[in-house]
Amino acid sequence: MMSEEALPNKNLRIDGTRLWRSLMEMAEIGATPKGGVCRLALSDLDKQGRDLFREWCEAAGCSVTVDPMGNMFARRPGLDPKRAPIQTGSHLDSQPTGGKFDGAYGVLAGLEVIRTLNDNGIETEAPFEVVVWTNEEGSRFAPAMIGSGVFSGTFSLEEGHGKQDKDGKTIGGELTRIGYLGTAPLGHPVGAYFEAHIEQGPILEADSKQIGIVSGVQGQIWYEITLTGQESHAGTTPMPVRRDALVGAAGLIEAVNRIGQAHNPGGCGTVGMLQVHPNSRNVIPGKVFLTVDFRHPSDQALALMDQEIRAESRAIADKHSLDLDLQKIWSFPALEFDRDCVAAVTRATTQCGYSNRAIVSGAGHDAVYLSKVAPTGMIFIPCADGISHNEIESATPEDAEAGCNVLLHAMLAMADRD
Ligand SMILES: [Zn+2]
Repeated sequence: MMSEEALPNKNLRIDGTRLWRSLMEMAEIGATPKGGVCRLALSDLDKQGRDLFREWCEAAGCSVTVDPMGNMFARRPGLDPKRAPIQTGSHLDSQPTGGKFDGAYGVLAGLEVIRTLNDNGIETEAPFEVVVWTNEEGSRFAPAMIGSGVFSGTFSLEEGHGKQDKDGKTIGGELTRIGYLGTAPLGHPVGAYFEAHIEQGPILEADSKQIGIVSGVQGQIWYEITLTGQESHAGTTPMPVRRDALVGAAGLIEAVNRIGQAHNPGGCGTVGMLQVHPNSRNVIPGKVFLTVDFRHPSDQALALMDQEIRAESRAIADKHSLDLDLQKIWSFPALEFDRDCVAAVTRATTQCGYSNRAIVSGAGHDAVYLSKVAPTGMIFIPCADGISHNEIESATPEDAEAGCNVLLHAMLAMADRD
């Protein structure tokens, strides 16, 4: 590592006004009446957003390639062509009622870094690459983060291409239709990956901090639970002999909340979906399906939460004479980002003089999959009231500029290290 005094570009800063202008221009594509963005993955609007990104990158002297998953790579060459690129990026697709910053901020912050290097005639040892990952949101095509998932080898290209939207249209078909089924080789070495993103939570704002130095991403488990009792007449079935699946579900919802609370700080427990059968006012509910979402930054705590929900649901089923079917359908372990990348973000933040704190990401990002193939780090900036996946999602020009300056210096540090 170079000492701070030796950093030749210590006082270099990005152009915050230009970054903000680009963010606002991109947000016009798919703009919604309430000030948000609807740019679903691989829609015509997504194509327009991609085209604009390509145009801007080519104007900045980058070569733009596209891989067979539609991931776009804008490359600024380095002095040493043998070095793997220092990457940054995020996504341009949005939720149906999404905001202007989720994803687009990380992409356009990367572009602003390139423009700043150009303005100042700065050459780097390693090439720089700005990436647009396909279908991060998982809104049109499930699951989320599929473009970076295929790039990192977590999913095969066939799996990626085969994912369907609710009308039966596939990712492969839609990539072809909008002209983004590329031919660049799938997956290539990455020297380091940084992603700048809005926090999508309230912590930075509440703590009056401008930069979140992301240490990792919390672990997550999803369950599907079915409780089965017996449907019968609400007027003629005596209370002591009832097998009411909804009463069991009520206990389970309470237990999930209690387990989440008990593992604080850090724990989250949510029942977000409930289906009651037959859902009729004068029938005792015979069957309830519900989902559970558990999260925690510590795998150990998450394992305890897993044990607790299994024991609680068993006890609840027994108490109400219900059959229990509990399936763990998906999980990913807690993730710690690369030490050098986190250190580079920390140094860049202090060097620029921004208030900051360490933070664990509550949401998944493309950085999760990139961390499987490259040293990875993330930078968060605050968003108003912690609200995201919403048209009112908002960030300030000052914070957007600060996060981009941190990105610039973190990337420079990794590009020029020996
Ligand atoms: Zn995002």
